[in-house]
Order: sequence, then C-alpha cells, then structure tokens
Amino acid sequence: MAITPLMPVYPRCDVRPVRGEGVYLYGEGGEQYLDFASGIAVNLLGHGHPHLTKAIQKQAETLVHVSNLYGSPQGEKLAQRLVDLTFADTVFFTNSGAEAVECAIKTARRYHFAKGNPHKHVLITFSNAFHGRTLGTISATDQPKMREGFEPLLPGFVVVPFDDLDAALAAVNENTAGFLLEPVQGEGGIRPASKEFLTGLRKACDEHDLMLVLDEVQCGMARTGKLYAHEHYGITPDIMASAKGIGGGFPLGACLATEKAAAGMVIGTHGSTYGGNPLAMAAGEAVLDVVANDEFLAQVTETGERLRAALTQMIPNHDNLFEGVRGLGLMLGIKMKTDSRAFVAYLRTKGILTVAAADNVVRVLPPLTIEERHIREFVDGLSAAAGDYQVPAAA
Ligand code: PLP
Repeated sequence: MAITPLMPVYPRCDVRPVRGEGVYLYGEGGEQYLDFASGIAVNLLGHGHPHLTKAIQKQAETLVHVSNLYGSPQGEKLAQRLVDLTFADTVFFTNSGAEAVECAIKTARRYHFAKGNPHKHVLITFSNAFHGRTLGTISATDQPKMREGFEPLLPGFVVVPFDDLDAALAAVNENTAGFLLEPVQGEGGIRPASKEFLTGLRKACDEHDLMLVLDEVQCGMARTGKLYAHEHYGITPDIMASAKGIGGGFPLGACLATEKAAAGMVIGTHGSTYGGNPLAMAAGEAVLDVVANDEFLAQVTETGERLRAALTQMIPNHDNLFEGVRGLGLMLGIKMKTDSRAFVAYLRTKGILTVAAADNVVRVLPPLTIEERHIREFVDGLSAAAGDYQVPAAA
C-alpha cells in the first residue's frame, strides 16, 4: 500500500515533537527547537504552562464531556466572561476555527432571513484571505490551491481586493449580507487592514444594515496586544470568529455575536456534539485567567515592540534576503526578497521554528509569554542562519 496511515494532505517536515516546555519543543531524539510558531498562533502560553495544564487535569478528573442537551454551567461561565470582555452578547462554542467561521457565516445569513430578507445572503470577502478548510470557508476565499477539485463550492461569496474600501463598497448590492474579513490577515502574509478600510466597512454596515463579520481566529486572543485585534481600530464587529489561542492548544473555538446579529440563531438552527464541553471550557477559562488583563496585554505590546525593533535592526545586515517587518504585537511577519518557505525550512535545521505565509513572508508567532532572552536567542539565531543561507537556485 502506497498511502500512509495519516492521510497525506500535509507536507510534513522532519521535526517530530514529542514534548514541549515553555518556548521549546523537543523531538523524538531529544533535539531542541525554539518555537516561534506556537502551533500556528495557538500555544499562546507556550508548552506545559502550569495553570493551563492543571486546569485541564482537574477538569479531566471531574467531567470531560456531556451533551449540549443538558445545562452547561461551565459553558455559561466562559461565555459570560467573553461577553463581559467583548462587544458580544452571546457565544456559540466550537472545536476549531473553521467551525467558528461557519457559525459566523450562518449567523449573518440567518440575521437577514429572520428579518424577512433571505435574498441577502452574499458575504463580501477579500483576496488572500484564509478562513479554514471546510466547504463553506474555502468558498469564502479566492485561493485556487484550496478550492481546486472541491467544486461545486458554496454560492453566496464575492471576493474583492483586501484593504480596498472602494472595491468593497462597489460590491454591495441588494443581495449583500455583509463583509467577512480578518482584521490582520495571517496566512495571507501578516497584513493588517488599514484604519480607513475597517472603519469604512463598519460605516457601510451601519448605513445599509449589513453584518460586519470578523475572523479573529489567528489575530485574536491577545496576540496583537489587545484581547481582539479590532480594538486597535476603534470599531466593533456584529459577529466574530475566535479560535486557536483561545484554548491555548486545547481544541476550542467560538462564534461571538451581538444580540441583534444573533436574532436568527434560535433553537434548532445550529449545533455541535463536542462544542463547549467541560474540558474545553476549563482550558478556555485558564487562558483567559492569564491573558485577559491589562498587564498581560501591555506586556505583549511591549515584547512585540522589542522583538520588532531587534528584527528591524538586524535586517540591514541581511538586506539581500529581508525587506522589512510588519504586523501587530506578537503577530509579526518578515517580508523576504526570496522564497520564505525555503528559508523557514532552513531555519528548522538550525533549531528555530517559524511559519511561512503568502507573499514570501516568514511568520513570527511566538508564545505570548516569551522573555528578553528568547528574543535574543531568536534574533541571533535568525541572523546567523541568514548569514549562512544559500538561496536555492530555483527560489
Ligand atoms: N481563520 C483564520 C484567520 C485562520 O488563520 C485559520 C487557521 O489557520 C482558520 C480560520 C481555520 O482554523 P482551523 O484550522 O482551526 O479550522
């Protein structure tokens, strides 16, 4: 048999972690890696954080799963905390980012349906976006590599250029349900939306009774120095998808909405067997315990500024490879003049984990708990690797 037992949909590299401790991962043979990828913006407290570990252990000993047919004291508690901390009035818990976005899409459609406007089902989405791998979420993107072979896709999405307010507004018509976007694009190459763009979309939503749906799966949960990235822009969404960091590594996602936006999400309209189970709720609570306070968020901002400054200072020494740094907080991207995938692979051989993104960007997504010594280790390692790096002929 040629096929591997693990369905071969990932180009898995030869890093094979079996243990993690703080900012480090350890492979089968004991190899140490400095983890500035964090499971792609997931392990925001690093690996083996005592508060998160204990919370999961304690809950696992008490109650792991019950059906959503029963009352959920654990879910009510975490939902209330999220409601208190955000624009939202209500929360649906999922197990992943794509599911959170699916719920967000359904909530937007259902809002207009409940108002007697079922024709308003088209979400305007944006170039280079990534919203997940379900049929709904790949339909919301314009990326051929994700869509090829999966047609027919879901109707109800129109893709326009990211950060182009005129194009977005020009696409609005009588069938428009709203806009769906990442305030800071992740897979698309660490691109923060401009303030004019996001505030312009908010204004259009207010004027035309449209839903502003934000996908904060990657940029949310303290990653940018605010609990959610839209707080940098002085606007709030109607609906928002959150995941990745929200569980600190435990599979957890959430769709948050205002009471108005969730008007159509009545009994029987949505569901999930595992979504919101007690174990996931314990993980979510433990993450909030650590990150949802001004001191922690200020520390993320400060650490992000120091990391960014150190990278900016290093870049001129390797201006054959690097162009600049972009991003917000500890969601940073190093724009390369060459293939970032090949360089990320080279960094792995030097014991440094980062993630490639579109537009030849190296994503730098460390745990939010990193200290000065980790910044030094990373920047020194990156600089040494850049000095030795031979750009592959084909790149
Ligand atoms: N939305 C964004 C912005 C993401 O970055 C991702 C994952 O990378 C997703 C959605 C999908 O999340 P998941 O892989 O948990 O389904």
